[in-house]
Amino acid sequence: MLLNELKIGETGKIVKVEGNGPLRQHFLDMGLIPECEITLVKYAPLGDPIEFRIHGYELTLRVDEAKLIEIEKAEEKKEKENKEKTNRNARHPGFGEDGIYHELQEVKNEPLEGKITFALAGNQNSGKTTLFNQLTGSNQHVGNFPGVTVEHKRGTIIGHEDCEVIDLPGIYSLSPYSDEELVSRKYILNEKPSAIINIVDATNIERNLYLTMQLLELDVPMVLALNMMDEVQGNGGSILINKMEEMLQIPVIPISAAKNEGVQELIEHAIHIARYQERPGRKDFCDKNDHGGALHRCLHTIMHMIEDHSQASGIPIRFAASKIVENDHLIIEDLNIHEKEMTAIEAVIEQMEEERKLDRSAAIADMRYIFINDLCSKTVIKPEVSKERLRSEKIDQILTGKYTAIPIFVLVMMSIFYLTFNVIGAFFQNILEELIGSLAQRCEILLTSMNVNDALKSLVCDGIFSGVGSVLSFVPIIVILFFFLSLLEDSGYMTRIAFMMDKLLRKIGLSGRSIVPLLVGFGCSVPAIMSTRTLPSKRDRKMTIMLIPFMSCSAKMPIYYFFVQTFFKEISWLIIGALYFLGIISAIIVALISKRTVFKGEAVPFVMELPNYRMPAAKNVLQLMWDKAKDFLQRAFTIIFMGTVIIWILEHFDFRLNMVEPTQSMLALMASLIAPIFKPLGFGDWRMSTALLSGFLAKESVVSTLTVLFGSTDILRASMTTAECFSFLSFCLLYTPCVAAVAAVR
Ligand code: GDP
Ligand code: MG
Repeated sequence: MLLNELKIGETGKIVKVEGNGPLRQHFLDMGLIPECEITLVKYAPLGDPIEFRIHGYELTLRVDEAKLIEIEKAEEKKEKENKEKTNRNARHPGFGEDGIYHELQEVKNEPLEGKITFALAGNQNSGKTTLFNQLTGSNQHVGNFPGVTVEHKRGTIIGHEDCEVIDLPGIYSLSPYSDEELVSRKYILNEKPSAIINIVDATNIERNLYLTMQLLELDVPMVLALNMMDEVQGNGGSILINKMEEMLQIPVIPISAAKNEGVQELIEHAIHIARYQERPGRKDFCDKNDHGGALHRCLHTIMHMIEDHSQASGIPIRFAASKIVENDHLIIEDLNIHEKEMTAIEAVIEQMEEERKLDRSAAIADMRYIFINDLCSKTVIKPEVSKERLRSEKIDQILTGKYTAIPIFVLVMMSIFYLTFNVIGAFFQNILEELIGSLAQRCEILLTSMNVNDALKSLVCDGIFSGVGSVLSFVPIIVILFFFLSLLEDSGYMTRIAFMMDKLLRKIGLSGRSIVPLLVGFGCSVPAIMSTRTLPSKRDRKMTIMLIPFMSCSAKMPIYYFFVQTFFKEISWLIIGALYFLGIISAIIVALISKRTVFKGEAVPFVMELPNYRMPAAKNVLQLMWDKAKDFLQRAFTIIFMGTVIIWILEHFDFRLNMVEPTQSMLALMASLIAPIFKPLGFGDWRMSTALLSGFLAKESVVSTLTVLFGSTDILRASMTTAECFSFLSFCLLYTPCVAAVAAVR
């Protein structure tokens, strides 16, 4: 039968994994391999996607994706017995103490001089951000990897000025199918960090070690940071660190990033292996005796065959061999293997497939999981119950329950918007506006007393202060909104939202994860655009960004309100409702068109991990708020500052550069030139087009410009019909977003 035919609570054993290319590799990387048991946990409230449990963690799959996996009914699951029932506390072998690992090292290399760089690698939700913040404090900066828009952070380790950490994206594997994974492995292969710090979620250790297996093959000095040990120990579980070090032949350090335990030890070990370039003692994880050793022989044959290519291209040999078996074209190209050799290699792989009775990718994934299962059965004493898992299940009964999920989601989002845009954010925004206002006043008094030229005075007071000031007042809103969003993200609720909304958004070619940025767009496009950073694929990110401006942001509200008061007093709610609706409909139409043209292809597969709910770490949240505020100021300020100055000049000068009244300015002239274009739409008045032009700076200023130019609402009322007014409002909704949003899009 197929995976989607399981009933809730039933368990099946995987027989075959169909699909091709990235999707299939992703299945295998997430642990969906033949012979593995999988349980259907629940359906999303809308019936798609489905939540499964596999390898002791929660995974989501769409129904269509589940159809690609063939299973057979498994007999009643027997709980595996723990080998050792005694719960030994995991020790924290200190640096240089009796850690077996250090006895195993025979030769010590010459210490590496100069600067040390660490690559921090790990799965999503393994605590990477938390550890990174512990390591670096606030001395860090964000950038993109050259050539691609995948964010990375760099920072120096506190107390070790010569040690730099670079935060690689959260990844599950080193396959070449996503930007993040490609960037990570390119970084390690080409930039050659001195060492890797691999962070692993010890509560979900099987899945996390899958990446570890691949990192080890890269033959770069590496330490394993076993994170979340507080939870493991709190539930009575334990991990035999020394045994694990012995089997993996790298230092293993139990830590709790959130509680800052073991982090100093981690730093010492990491610096030690980086200085002395102690490479992993073991890269070979294929078992000679496993299924007749078919894969073992295949891999080692290929390793012999490509030894010269590996040396010439600098690609670690074991990594190269397994990537060749996985049919990774990029690596095969980089290795520069001749056609004849490739034919021979192909024959070797085909023989292995026949003997192993699995295809190449599945065989490699299977080998990794066999080793991991062996390692875990010898070193991990799993807690009987996990309090966190039970708690998560309870919370999920309500938060993703069939009937409660959607109402709660609506409630949560509404309260966030209400608090951000109406209460807390608005409170700080008012304070800031007053502050800027009084500063502007003082500045004006000062400039007057100094007898400064009128033009300069107006530039500073009317132009820069009001323009930049109005943008500055965005900052509290952004910071508060990101405070809430990072709570949603860190707690694990964000992935549930994606899980619930996926079916709806899929219809327009996006995945469930896009819902939050789109909703934030009703408040303000700028933070909405910035929040798309949580989306996993570049295509989804761009498409979402393009749709955000169609959501009526709160700055459009004053325009709607102003006109509705003047023209449609009795049916104001209907008109405003219609405008919001029009925006959403337009977004859907644009999405449907671009799905077939600019953004061809499917949204990312929805093979996603649902982590346990966790208490967000305060440090993460604060760090993110600070980062976002800084980011916004830096990126938007330059463009907005220039925009303000340009608009001010246009508004106050004529073409002979005499200072004039706004009605005779360059802006008014330009507006009267473009006004005829708007005639067919019903608002060919130059004052209307002036308002639209100034609306580019900030949507609210459409209203202020109109009041200045018309003088009274009666005149306005007399100058257009209700139909023309609705046309103007629709145009305000659909035309270019404001300069701050454009800057953010860029
Ligand atoms: P990332 O996705 O890898 O960057 O993971 P984060 O650093 O965002 O952490 C994910 C969640 O795990 C957050 O809610 C953290 O507060 C939590 N967390 C991180 N480290 C620990 C830890 O050592 N113990 C516990 N109990 N929770 C942790
Ligand atoms: Mg993170």
